[in-house]
Order: sequence, then structure tokens, then C-alpha cells
Amino acid sequence: MKGTVYKSTGSWYTVKAEDGLFYECRIKGKFRIQGIKSTNPIAVGDRVEFKLQTKNEKTQGVIHDIEDRENYIVRRSVNLSKRTHILAANIDQLFLVITLNNPPTFTSFIDRFLVTAEAYHIKTVLLFNKIDTYNDEELLEVKHLSALYRNIGYECLGISAKTEKNIDKLKDFMKEKVSIFAGHSGVGKSTLINVVEPGLNLKTKEISEQHKQGQHTTTFAEMFDLSFDAKIIDTPGVKGFGLVDVEKEELSDYFPEFFMRKEACKFNNCLHVKEPHCAIKDALETGEIAWSRYRSYLQLLEGEDENYRTDYWEE
Ligand code: GDP
Ligand code: ZN
Repeated sequence: MKGTVYKSTGSWYTVKAEDGLFYECRIKGKFRIQGIKSTNPIAVGDRVEFKLQTKNEKTQGVIHDIEDRENYIVRRSVNLSKRTHILAANIDQLFLVITLNNPPTFTSFIDRFLVTAEAYHIKTVLLFNKIDTYNDEELLEVKHLSALYRNIGYECLGISAKTEKNIDKLKDFMKEKVSIFAGHSGVGKSTLINVVEPGLNLKTKEISEQHKQGQHTTTFAEMFDLSFDAKIIDTPGVKGFGLVDVEKEELSDYFPEFFMRKEACKFNNCLHVKEPHCAIKDALETGEIAWSRYRSYLQLLEGEDENYRTDYWEE
């Protein structure tokens, strides 16, 4: 049988099969892991093949194969140094929920998130939430940021989970896709998900489950089917994702507006810092590339060792 992993506890996997039913499964044998070494061989979102076995009148699934992933995101843990945990796989899009002041979301954070998403080949949509609270100046700032990010290929939407402004548009974005909501604590992710799908109430569920099991800190992702043919993967307590091994020379590939221009740099290993005849710096001077983006690029470039190796975004 074929199915998709909706939930995992580490030893058990809840798989939704093509017949629409959920099966509790275990893993058998060793799996080819694509690219990276991880602490978990199978993650939420993975498409797997399994067989049903009946033992002592109990039926359980045994997973024996996993489809190649389209993409995946990881949580990198400081303590485990190079060992990574795959949070979720086969994600269609990330929603980065942003608020200007309460709490502030800085462009450096947005850009680091976008670089990570680019490196993982996952589309990102920027959601400017709480626009019901913004004054004229802040609305102008949203307009400015939306123009900046749209210009380099990211869709942007101003929304309010409170007044439900543009929630219908958000739901249109979500249809027939697997989505993840990310962003700082307090930007309104839970409120938003509750407005999109009343009754799902992820936060409440998370707390009661943890209480019941008397455990904390270990949080597992879980996939949910929504009522309007959309799926979300909830990754409790994670506001962003760790980036795996990006070389300095590679970094500008994940800034789309840099990538499209770098052929024109004189040196093909140009880092766009001190090199002469650099197409990126030219575009910066003419205003085609935003200074905030270049600043974020330099920050990531310079902070490479520290930021990249121990990127730990759990709240
Ligand atoms: P999370 O940490 O990202 O899940 O954020 P929450 O969903 O817990 O929201 C944090 C606070 O922001 C709560 O008090 C919400 O009621 C409030 N909030 C969320 N969305 C909006 C919005 O669109 N407008 C206003 N005014 N408040 C909001
Ligand atoms: Zn250059």
C-alpha cells in the first residue's frame, strides 16, 4: 500500500493510505537517506510504501520503502552538532508570517528565512499580519516591503487574522497544497490557522497532549487535512529552519536578484564584496537591488561560521 506520513513519534508513524484510512506503521530495514544524515529516517510528509501485518490479532503496517523527497526542512540542534532532524518533507509552500512592530520582524530575519527556503527549493509567500493595527506610516512600510519582495519573485499579502481581511485570498493560496506557517512567536500564526480552519485549535491540542504524556521539549510535526482541500504541517515551537552547509560562493545563488545578475560579474567566483566590475554592486548603485538585501547578504556571508553551523531557531 502507498500512503503519506501524517504523524511520527520516532518509533511509530501514522500513515494515511490512498484508501483514505490511517494506519499505524513501523519501519523495517534500512533506508537510503537522500543527501544528509538525520536522526530520523522518515518524516511527516514522506510518501511511503507499506504492508499490513497481523500479529496477535493486531494489524499494523510495516514501511519498507520511501519515495524520493521533493524537498525537506530540518531542525538543526546545537547539542547534536552535525546531526539533523528532518522536520517535514514534500512541502509545497511556506508562509512567513510577519508583523512590523508587535513583535518586530526585521528584514535580516526575512532574508535569512528566504535564503533557507531557496536552498531547500521551497516557495515562500510573505504574509503581513495584523494590518488592522497599522497606522499610515506602517501601511506605507508594508507597501514598500511588498513591492521590494514582489519585485524579486515572492508573493506578498497583507492580512488580518482579527478582521479576517484577505483570509479568503490566503485560503486560495492554500488550496490543493501542503503549507507550513512560520514566523516569530506572537505574529499570529495560531490565531491565523484558527481563522482559516476553525476548530483545529493546534495550540490547545499540543498542550493537552504534552500534559498527558508528561513530556516536554520534544516536539513533532504533524500534518492536518483542512476542510477546503488544503493541508498544513504544524511544527510546534519552531519559527524557522536550520540551513545545511551553504558555501560562501553559493550564497548569492539563494538571492534570486543576485543570481540572475551574477553571470555579468567579471570574476565567476565573485563574492560581490570587494571585486571590481561586479554586476551586483552596479545594480545596488542604480537602485535595482535593495540595500537591505545586500546588507543581509553581507551579514550571512560574514557570519557564516557561527550562524550557519549552529543555526538553532527553536523558541
Ligand atoms: P503565534 O505565537 O505566532 O502563534 O501568535 P498568536 O496566534 O498566539 O497571536 C499573538 C497575539 O496576537 C494574540 O494576542 C492574538 O490575538 C494577536 N493577533 C493575531 N493576529 C492578529 C491580527 O491580525 N490583528 C490583531 N490586532 N491581533 C492579532
Ligand atoms: Zn559580483
